[in-house]
Amino acid sequence: MAAALIAATHGTDDSVTSWVYGVVVWPDHVGPDVGHFTDRLTAAAKEAFAFWGYAPPEAAGVWECPLEYAGGLHGGSADVRIVDDRSAVETVVPPLQWMNRRLFPVVVIAFSGGWRMRDALGTMATLGARFHFGSAASSYPDAEDWVREVGRGCRTMICVSYAGDELLIHGFAHWFLAEWCEASGVNPWRLPDVIHEGTAEATCASAKDSTDTVWERRAVIDWAKRNCLSNGVGAASVYAVGKSLVTQLIDELGEAGFLETLAAWTSSPDVLIAQYEPDWRESLGLPRECVAASDGSG
Ligand SMILES: [Zn+2]
Repeated sequence: MAAALIAATHGTDDSVTSWVYGVVVWPDHVGPDVGHFTDRLTAAAKEAFAFWGYAPPEAAGVWECPLEYAGGLHGGSADVRIVDDRSAVETVVPPLQWMNRRLFPVVVIAFSGGWRMRDALGTMATLGARFHFGSAASSYPDAEDWVREVGRGCRTMICVSYAGDELLIHGFAHWFLAEWCEASGVNPWRLPDVIHEGTAEATCASAKDSTDTVWERRAVIDWAKRNCLSNGVGAASVYAVGKSLVTQLIDELGEAGFLETLAAWTSSPDVLIAQYEPDWRESLGLPRECVAASDGSG
């Protein structure tokens, strides 16, 4: 049924190719240089895990990606399958193995053009790369049905095939963080956004343009002059402030030490903010004690 839905929406336009951690779906057409793109994907995923001192997941089996099929991808609660509606042949994409756990393979939905991505995803397409777990895509009402079908039960990265390394590493850092939390008994969905995005931004910092980095630091200092972490961080500042905070925590605690604080970030973020905000402010050249400006300063 799901495969029929995808086929009905897309005819035979969808193509799939394999990559080391799963499968790449090309909703419009296969990009001109598949090997180059999947090499970049693989490097970005490895870098996201290596930044935190972890080896990347390993495929639990070998498989052959069908060269031609007419159908779609099933993202079930147990596995990911490529289904050919004509022959009824199903190809199972093997799960991954990591920290003695079985992980879903990652389904990368790669658009070769931004306009096609906007058609398919609407407002969801405003960023260059997004990582989704399971049903997250369903929170975007204008996303096409097939994205929800593919995304259900899967780990899904939605991006354009020319997304920069920074965006790809950021996306896979979300993958690492959520899998690490689930393997460690921490509920990743209770982490504050500033920690989610800060972790992803810290992970991809080395791939960032240095001009960006300078402007970001200025923006963070301006933010911290007017705001305290305990009042929350707005959506516009969550990336830059989060990156600055997480980088400071890594400097102070090390990567492993930072990961150890994640459980406390889910249960008592106020305690951690009281503990770490003064050092963070000092690292920005500001007074250690935070005195917020008047209400509504952002
Ligand atoms: Zn993010």
